[in-house]
Amino acid sequence: MKEELKEKLKCYLCGEEYEPAAKIWRCSCGGFFDLVFTPLVDFKSISSKEYDLWRYREALPISNDTEIISFQEGFTPLLEIEFSGRKIHVKQEYLFPTGSFKDRGAAVLVNKLRELNIVRVIEDSSGNAGAALAAYCARAGIECEIFASCDTAPGKLEQIKSYGALLNLNAETRQHAAELALEKAKTTYYASHSWNPYFFQGTKTFAFEICEQLNWESPDILVLPVGNGTLLLGAYLGFKDLIRAGIIKRLPRLIGVQLESCCPVYRSFNNLPEQNFRIDQIKSGRGIAISAPIRIKQIVSAIRESGGDIICVSSQQINKYQRLLAEMGFYLESTAVIAFAGLAENRELMSSAGSIITAFTGHGLKESRR
Ligand SMILES: *Cc1c(COP(=O)(O)O)cnc(C)c1O
Ligand SMILES: [Zn+2]
Repeated sequence: MKEELKEKLKCYLCGEEYEPAAKIWRCSCGGFFDLVFTPLVDFKSISSKEYDLWRYREALPISNDTEIISFQEGFTPLLEIEFSGRKIHVKQEYLFPTGSFKDRGAAVLVNKLRELNIVRVIEDSSGNAGAALAAYCARAGIECEIFASCDTAPGKLEQIKSYGALLNLNAETRQHAAELALEKAKTTYYASHSWNPYFFQGTKTFAFEICEQLNWESPDILVLPVGNGTLLLGAYLGFKDLIRAGIIKRLPRLIGVQLESCCPVYRSFNNLPEQNFRIDQIKSGRGIAISAPIRIKQIVSAIRESGGDIICVSSQQINKYQRLLAEMGFYLESTAVIAFAGLAENRELMSSAGSIITAFTGHGLKESRR
């Protein structure tokens, strides 16, 4: 057996700490975990390393150095485009092996599962997180069961099945799939992208890459989609690591973008009452239609700390930008254009000085239909 791992699991609610070797995914009080550990953000020898997300491996909570399983994923292009007369950098996050940025989280989480000798996991997903987990589990030889609702995009379900994962389609809605997974998680390790802190340690590499691609500078504004907040909170963690290491001075302003028809984070941020909505009536941007993100307080406080904001987009706007971006050569699923739509429709952001970065988060082939 290896020596104790460096990091600890810490409950967000009660503060109790646990060893990762306990192989638990939530605290006895019911709270979710964050990680307590000191990443080594020392990138002096980085120029000799491969261009994938493992070039930041000292800053990731994986101890087992020799046996990393990977597809050499990451280091997605940061492309500058001009739109409405403004320069915007767009991180090409749909160019991952499974077609979305969820590979960042799955890559780190699945390597942790291997380190902990966990051989069977479950997850619930509106498609992309399930596909990413299924792919990395296939590569690692870990059994996985994905809970999705029966109305999930057929291409995503096919992708998950093809990787050899067990696909559970008993749920009628996304929220129902999460409930079924929670029930099963009483007996099986829950490799959830919203609950599991290792997933966010993977998505934080998004910030490291941006910073390196900007010659170790921080952007001024970062516009990202928010459902469960895995990309936004990951980016926040990554930029905090960079500040702590003295590489950058301040956080970029984090601008979260939600659906008008399902915007719990927007409502919490603005102290508005909860909203009634019918999930089955949401056709565009379903991938971020999360009615109760478990890390909602963390998301709101990260945005506040950065001096950022939350904005919303309509399905008409999503459809418009999905078409428009395809005509510019970017073939993206509807969820993947939400951040860009929010930015492009926002006059204040578009006319602000300073650099703006957003992301194309998922590939259009996943949703292709005739
Ligand atoms: C998961 C996902 C998002 C949103 O990420 P959250 O973690 O839910 O905030 C956005 N776009 C795509 C393509 C996704 O798969
Ligand atoms: Zn607790």
